[in-house]
Amino acid sequence: MASITTEEIRSSADKQPTDPDAGRPPICGELVTIPTSVAMTAVRYASRPVIDPTEIRNVRCTLQAHPTGDHYGFIVDTAEATSAWTRWNENAGPEIVLVLPDCPATDPEQNAACSEYESHGGGHTWQVDDPWDPAAHEQ
Ligand SMILES: [Zn+2]
Ligand SMILES: [Zn+2]
Repeated sequence: MASITTEEIRSSADKQPTDPDAGRPPICGELVTIPTSVAMTAVRYASRPVIDPTEIRNVRCTLQAHPTGDHYGFIVDTAEATSAWTRWNENAGPEIVLVLPDCPATDPEQNAACSEYESHGGGHTWQVDDPWDPAAHEQ
């Protein structure tokens, strides 16, 4: 089961951004697989009652590309305005679960909420280019 999810993410990773739309800066896109123990902790906070921890082990950093600093990966929704995240960098793996408030910003044109956590670095979701976000590339 875990391998299916991993394959899906890997094959997505091979896709190059084909849409040159906008001059939006790219996202970081760093991938990480969280340990099962971290996934199980996140599941305990999850808003959905039944989640297979193997479904949420592959996370990626969707922050605007950043030369320094920690990567943050969304794991699962925990409540209406909070989500579980993990954090890692080149020296330390994703060993913790952080329950963070959602970024309160909303795109004034699309009325779409930002998918990052409150006080994140870089641009909001609609200000950066995520080549894997189908909604941003289907026009
Ligand atoms: Zn990152
Ligand atoms: Zn934001």
